[in-house]
Amino acid sequence: NEALRLQLEVTRYGQDEALVIVRDITRLHNLEQMRRDFVANVSHELRTPLTVIAGYLETLQGSDMAPPAWQRPLAQMEEQAVRMTTLVNDLLLLARLETSERSGGDIPVDVNELMERVAREARSFSGGRHQIEVQCEGHSSIRGDASELHSAFANLVLNAVKYSPADGEIRLRWWQDSRGGHFSVEDQGIGIDPIHIPRLTERFYRVDPGRSRDSGGTGLGLAIVKHVLLRHSGEMSVKSIPAQGSTFILHFPASKVDTKIENNYGEVA
Ligand code: ADP
Repeated sequence: NEALRLQLEVTRYGQDEALVIVRDITRLHNLEQMRRDFVANVSHELRTPLTVIAGYLETLQGSDMAPPAWQRPLAQMEEQAVRMTTLVNDLLLLARLETSERSGGDIPVDVNELMERVAREARSFSGGRHQIEVQCEGHSSIRGDASELHSAFANLVLNAVKYSPADGEIRLRWWQDSRGGHFSVEDQGIGIDPIHIPRLTERFYRVDPGRSRDSGGTGLGLAIVKHVLLRHSGEMSVKSIPAQGSTFILHFPASKVDTKIENNYGEVA
């Protein structure tokens, strides 16, 4: 009784002839669905035990119950429990994003507010070691899901912090033109060799796994960005020069972007 999934491939030969190949991909589709459900279920089941472990480790630290010699291992255990929680949350978010190509919400999300929020979060993550600047043109909003868009913007900005030396400058920009709205994050960090760029949005693909882990990366950030964009009809482009820096740009089509024009008095029309 289940729906049949067919894939059609049409090749035209001149005016009157065409070769049509019909593939039954129902089994493949179902297997993919099972994989996604499995990942989502495992991640969900891991959340509660992890919260309990991290909670007790935090309580034990600095308390009289644990001798001084235990403090360092306890701190390391808590750090790892927090890392695992981040990984599980990212896996869960990705599984949810993969289930459909339609965004979870459909409201106007204020770009200015979103950029200020991710800049604030990035400054706190960087501990004031990076200079983070925001340049937002006009008053725009993107139609979609606020929390998904926040994940996409935040992942790019946190990556800029993770892969840049201290006191590096990070610039967040938003502008719009006839094609739509564009959000870019430019850093003066380690850059990326062009051979890696096509694979960056694959799950767990990292240019330097050691560096990614040390900076708290899960290897899922750009996969999350890709799926959020798919659900908002957006696209991503990357420009990067090794040892000089990278620019990640998110492009949103005009149909998803609403821009209010400011009059001469700075009021929004
Ligand atoms: P991670 O959690 O490892 O940062 P991502 O999916 O966010 O995972 O990114 C994938 C890989 O792309 C990273 O491991 C890193 O090698 C590379 N990368 C992402 N953003 C940048 C950046 N701004 N500068 C240099 N490398 C980057």
